[in-house]
Amino acid sequence: MDKQSRMELRRKAGLRDLPKPNVKVLGPEYAMSFACLNCKTSNMRHFDIDPCDYPDSIECPVCNNLAINVGRHFKPPKKTDNAQWKKVEYLIKHGFVFQTIFERRDDTGDYKASYPKTLAEAKDFVVKYKRQSVQVAL
Ligand SMILES: [Zn+2]
Repeated sequence: MDKQSRMELRRKAGLRDLPKPNVKVLGPEYAMSFACLNCKTSNMRHFDIDPCDYPDSIECPVCNNLAINVGRHFKPPKKTDNAQWKKVEYLIKHGFVFQTIFERRDDTGDYKASYPKTLAEAKDFVVKYKRQSVQVAL
């Protein structure tokens, strides 16, 4: 019998102070964002498959163009924020789809690099981390 069933039995037996069972399901926390550069929208999608098997792109539900999988941590700019969307487009076209990028440090070990805040910063970023870029079919 697994832990959850045992807890459920104990709960039924009246031991009410037990913690609620922590049911692990692939829920919305495994939703990925898909960004469409054409209409500047981002849509969260959840699939009942392993997150690493999620598609690299989907058809944009708004304009039917290609929407790129930009992972779980993408924060879409406002639709009207052209400068930020230009930066996002630049990054994606250079193979940076908001995957985790590591900064190599010999002294303190690797750490997570933050994504650039501006297009100007993005131009240095794609050069600096070129080896960590991925293939993006646009
Ligand atoms: Zn679109």
